[in-house]
Amino acid sequence: MKVYKFGGASVKNAAGVRNLVSIVAREKGELVVVVSAMGKTTNALERLVSLSLAGDEELTARQLADIGDYHYSIISDLFGKGETSLRNKIEDMLQQIRAICRTAVTEQPDYDELYDSIVSFGELMSTTIVSYMLESEGISNVLLDMTKILLTDATHREARPDMVLSEHSLRLALQQKTSRVYVAQGFISGTETGKRTTLGREGSDYSAALIANMLDAESVTIWKDVPGILNADPRLFDNTTLISSLTYFDAVELAYSGAQVIHPKTIRPLENKHIPLYVRPFSDPDAAGSVIQETTEKPIDVPVYIWRKNQVLVTLRAKDFSFVLEDSLNRLFEIVYRHRLKVSMIQSSAITVSVCVDKSRYLEGALQELSTDYKVTFNEGLSLLTIRGTTPEIIDKCTAGRTILLSQTTRRTARFVIKEEQ
Ligand code: ASP
Ligand code: MG
Repeated sequence: MKVYKFGGASVKNAAGVRNLVSIVAREKGELVVVVSAMGKTTNALERLVSLSLAGDEELTARQLADIGDYHYSIISDLFGKGETSLRNKIEDMLQQIRAICRTAVTEQPDYDELYDSIVSFGELMSTTIVSYMLESEGISNVLLDMTKILLTDATHREARPDMVLSEHSLRLALQQKTSRVYVAQGFISGTETGKRTTLGREGSDYSAALIANMLDAESVTIWKDVPGILNADPRLFDNTTLISSLTYFDAVELAYSGAQVIHPKTIRPLENKHIPLYVRPFSDPDAAGSVIQETTEKPIDVPVYIWRKNQVLVTLRAKDFSFVLEDSLNRLFEIVYRHRLKVSMIQSSAITVSVCVDKSRYLEGALQELSTDYKVTFNEGLSLLTIRGTTPEIIDKCTAGRTILLSQTTRRTARFVIKEEQ
């Protein structure tokens, strides 16, 4: 069994879906095809959640109509006018979303729970279309419903999977309807009591890794719009180099620093079962791309640049002039963890601690709680630049003319919290 994962960019239009079919057609063995929501659908659904909570009926209706039109136009491009059964399935999902939005106004449910119940439709729509298209191209397949298979706790928007329960239900689903090809949604999951959950933004890679772990897959391939893992984001740097082979350890470090090429949680389920992860370009399926595995013959020999954007630097100074020591750090990180902040860098001195975190809607609550013990100040609009395999010349070049708020350097790695240019 192999697992292929296709992100939103690879299924953003009819040409992308056709390309997916041609890549799947090349594989002759058993395959699970994990698919994200099409294009920017998750962002569009996120906006829909906010609009419906704000009670703006007209804008909510328009937003939902746009989401529907986008999917219908892909269906038309793929099949022309026919295929009413597929259109009906999409219409049925749009109706369900409409009904949820309507109750949101009166019931004002928990934001995170509402989010999961609405945003999960992105992947449900994309996989319905992909599965239908594969079938019509002669690739018989079974569509899995991961909201009933990937079972998690009820931490909405960042659900934690129960691997034992999920493996049981996944194997059962595969036994009940046997096929060579299965299509599964990335990113979405559910609780045992039937509530929908999601694994966190960009979580489809993680879904693919979890599925591979549970099925002891031979490999996972993430098909992307880049040639593989590059030493820098080609949208930000010229002259990028392909890193053809790297270790799980390298990959975790890169993903944690903010490399968007893979979701940080993806590596662990693969490392635990020694499953290699390939990152390959969907526009050139013959190209080798990159492989991540236990060991590599050649260590990474180029500097790697990673930008983690949307950072907030929070500085905490103990109010009573007490030292920031182990006990208060313990409490501080308990608060940070409970409010689900994602820490990217920490630095401390006698009475202050600086914590760089991803900007998030939970930040305000955390800062409020922290302000009981600390004088809290913060800076927004920052980026964290990590350079692995750095030299003094590279550091000079990257920092020249920039406002650096915090830096940390070791012999090989340099990290800078930088004010974003306006
Ligand atoms: N569709 C989800 C997102 O855009 C999950 C993913 O693409 O991995 O965040
Ligand atoms: Mg996506």
